Amino acid sequence: MDILQECRGAKRIGIGGHVRPDGDCVGACLGLYQYLCKSLPEASVQVFLEKPAEIFREIKGYDEIDSECGQQEAFDVFFCLDCAQDRLGGAQGYFAAAGKTLNIDHHVSNPGCGGINYIRPEASSTSELVYDLIDKEALDKDLAMALYIGIIHDTGVFQYSNTSPQTMEKAAKLISFGFDFPRLIEETFYQKTYLQSQIMGRALIQSIRFMDGRCIVSGIDRKTMDFYGVGPSDLEGIVNQLRNIKGIHCAIFMYQTDVLEYKISMRSDELVDVAKVAEFFGGGGHKRAAGCTMRGTFHDCVNNLSLHIERQLDGRL
Ligand code: 5GP
Ligand code: MN
Repeated sequence: MDILQECRGAKRIGIGGHVRPDGDCVGACLGLYQYLCKSLPEASVQVFLEKPAEIFREIKGYDEIDSECGQQEAFDVFFCLDCAQDRLGGAQGYFAAAGKTLNIDHHVSNPGCGGINYIRPEASSTSELVYDLIDKEALDKDLAMALYIGIIHDTGVFQYSNTSPQTMEKAAKLISFGFDFPRLIEETFYQKTYLQSQIMGRALIQSIRFMDGRCIVSGIDRKTMDFYGVGPSDLEGIVNQLRNIKGIHCAIFMYQTDVLEYKISMRSDELVDVAKVAEFFGGGGHKRAAGCTMRGTFHDCVNNLSLHIERQLDGRL
């Protein structure tokens, strides 16, 4: 895929990423936004995303993000990043109406939804794919920082198995632009507010192990979220903490999104492919990190998920 070639002559270019954008989604969208603004000064470029967490405010272009999706005019080119078009939220209409659509993603569950697709499940992150696709001459400190933040978030700071030697080489090139990467890792990945830490503590205390201690689940209901005054982005990291527990092969964290509706996050090791489990329930993701939305009570959700996880753990799938 030659990004600039595909955008040749385009006057209006749009970029969208998935609902509840994470670090990779924000880094990839704003990285591509910066690149297109710099390379195609005559075009109008816009990014559409649900409002990302404040920790990403430092990334250049954050204040230009449109979270309303109020305008009507169609785009000549529309990029769908880090997901398929069904998770674009308010920007779905722009994708459907665009003259040309491009899809850049690293999720195995995405078959490619654009007129032109660049889907690489072996890549650590969509930010790494944006790095691959841009002209390296255009890299500067701001663009390098955006892509670096995306990569550290989707690799858990180069810990997860999606980290390849190539990922490290690209990250090395990115930090050569001289931004304060230890501070960015600390402030965007590890640091939690007091309330975020409290609700994580609560989720850990209330967690339940099952399947002979091989799996763990915890959930936070709407009432508890309201009590602490926290939203979905404040719950990030809880599922990873559950997965860190010795002996656990699969961790599930869920939070209530509506009456009888939960957003599910799963993390696993090589014994369980959670992308398969999530896909069965209409979601998706990666082998070791995936999610979906389910209807029912907390216990309905756990029972339905555990059937699928148990089959894999017992080698029956
Ligand atoms: P998380 O648990 O951090 O929300 O998501 C883990 C991974 O699964 C991410 O790559 C995310 O994009 C993907 N994912 C989470 N929820 C969904 C979903 O409902 N549908 C799809 N297709 N992917 C999801
Ligand atoms: Mn991603």
